[in-house]
Amino acid sequence: MTAGWVVVAGLGPGADTMVTPEVSAAIAQATDIVGYIPYVARIAPREGLTLHASDNRVELDRAAHALHMAASGARVVIVSSGDPGVFAMASALFEALEAAPQYLNTDIRILPGITAMLAAAAAAGAPLGHDFACINLSDNLKPFDLLARRIRLCAQADLAMAYYNPRSASRPDTFGKVLDILRTECAPHTLITFARAVSTPDQRIETVTLDMARDDMADMRTVVLVGNSATRKLGRFVYTPRKAL
Ligand code: SAH
Repeated sequence: MTAGWVVVAGLGPGADTMVTPEVSAAIAQATDIVGYIPYVARIAPREGLTLHASDNRVELDRAAHALHMAASGARVVIVSSGDPGVFAMASALFEALEAAPQYLNTDIRILPGITAMLAAAAAAGAPLGHDFACINLSDNLKPFDLLARRIRLCAQADLAMAYYNPRSASRPDTFGKVLDILRTECAPHTLITFARAVSTPDQRIETVTLDMARDDMADMRTVVLVGNSATRKLGRFVYTPRKAL
């Protein structure tokens, strides 16, 4: 029996051309793929490969399952969208490992991917060309007060911001409240880019000023890029100059 391993791999934002060669190579060598249903659906089935698709809220079980299978010789790839270290499975794997230290000697590798905000920024121009912050608007694992404080402080520091998980059926109000915070901290002409389903056939990129932004412009397939005070439009592009105002 060959030695098992666990790879946590990022599949990028959607397009096959944005999957890195090292991620493709790991998938080609895998015996088992573990992950959230829509991400596992991106893996082509083949003989000798078992696909284990699971629901969204079971990250820790999924990670423990991967460690357990690797201990019996399986070559497991845990798939995430984008980059596995950005609000995804890499931290979940280490949380599971901390809870199950008997697996500490497992051969584990984290393979990076193109995260949504970088694919979105490239599609829009260069809105993240100066300092920026990357924030998860999901309050599943974080109280709203902490989220609100971080957004307020980032806005006061004139950081551009990228928001992941802006809106879901279970949290319909969060993004509207975030827009209200931005309206108290930023100028009305601050540019906001809504980048939906980037790199897929459904891609839609729309840039509006803060005073025109509405919470229903975002959904769970959208990453939201908020400019700093220097972010501007140039033809069809949005960019942030490298120099602070
Ligand atoms: N690990 C992923 C993020 C997972 S959280 C990454 O690095 O990209 C899921 C959130 O990512 C979504 O709610 C959305 O905000 C963002 N996202 C993922 N893929 C996207 C895409 N193709 N276009 C726009 N946003 C995307």
